[in-house]
Amino acid sequence: MNLVEIFSSVQGEGPYVGAATLFVRVGGCDLRCAWCDSPHTWLPARECRIQEARGSEASRVVENPVSLETALEAARALDGAAHRFVSLTGGEPLLQPEAVSALAPALRALGPRIHLETHGLAADALDGVVEHVDVVSMDWKLASDVRRESGEPGPFHEIHQDFLRVALRAPEVVVKLVVTPATGDEELEEAWSRIAAVDSALPVILQPVTPFARVRERPAAARLLELAARASRMLDDVRVIPQMHPLLGVR
Ligand code: SF4
Repeated sequence: MNLVEIFSSVQGEGPYVGAATLFVRVGGCDLRCAWCDSPHTWLPARECRIQEARGSEASRVVENPVSLETALEAARALDGAAHRFVSLTGGEPLLQPEAVSALAPALRALGPRIHLETHGLAADALDGVVEHVDVVSMDWKLASDVRRESGEPGPFHEIHQDFLRVALRAPEVVVKLVVTPATGDEELEEAWSRIAAVDSALPVILQPVTPFARVRERPAAARLLELAARASRMLDDVRVIPQMHPLLGVR
């Protein structure tokens, strides 16, 4: 499998923010989000950085592809069993479904629950791995800020809705929408109504963008509160949660 890094930290986004999490970050992504804070994961990586020990700044480097045995050995060395979650993140993990199928059950056997962070567009790939996932954390990408790698624009609503139906086979599903100053009312309303049509009780996170790359500003607080109130007319569990890693100064 092509991996970028394996390290121990705490969850930085969504309802499990702050929970001890072992991150396995894969290389390769077929989207280009304007606010992406991991552009180094867009292409498959030549090498993978593996943290030496939990809390340590030291890491070693192994060449890709990384074997299942090497990834498991790294997870054990990082005290994987003491984490609440393993986050399979990226890049886009579902571009390597065979790797997820092999890695997720092996890591789950150590004790943590498997938390899949995905762009939410690869429904066929999810179909083959969803039995190994405890929490599907899917983005709902909005065309105002997201393009495909080819440059092709969204909208992605219909593809996300199909993905969400497959994701519901996992024990837990969380939907995240990143809100920027450019996010439009119409695209948000369509996303919320499509989520509600599948399951209005799902946790839906409105995440104010952390300024990065081409996105320089956050949405105003009043705008976020107004959006949360409007979303709550269609959805039962709307939360506004910013990214915590920049506040904590950790990865
Ligand atoms: S899907 Fe994730 S890794 Fe890919 S460009 Fe968007 S934020 Fe970055």
